[in-house]
Amino acid sequence: METSVLLRIVYAANETGMYVVGPSYLSSELGIPKSTAQKLLVKLAEQGYGVYIPRKGFVLNNKGLKEAKKAMRKHRLIECLLEEIGVTEICLEAARIESVVEGELLEVIEKRYGSRKRCPCGKLIPSSYF
Ligand SMILES: [Zn+2]
Repeated sequence: METSVLLRIVYAANETGMYVVGPSYLSSELGIPKSTAQKLLVKLAEQGYGVYIPRKGFVLNNKGLKEAKKAMRKHRLIECLLEEIGVTEICLEAARIESVVEGELLEVIEKRYGSRKRCPCGKLIPSSYF
């Protein structure tokens, strides 16, 4: 599981007001066992992206928040592209390709959709200045 994807999922939880993200949430989001989800959250903390509070969950720190915003921005800009080319399951399809979109492709996507404030589903695209 890509770190950026995990951070994006944690960020999405934060957007709904959930700032402590537990294994149950991650487990249901990813369709993985709770024990695996817990290990992934502990690993995020070990990588320096936040703190894991035992029996509660994971909280982003500043470094984690920065990376999470970057990951969410990428996801939502990819959604803009997918919508334009006629994809209907944009969030699902964006999640399938986000970890391999980089380099020139990402630059072009950034240039083309970077000034948008919201993704096609109406959610705020984090700004590139943070
Ligand atoms: Zn969206």
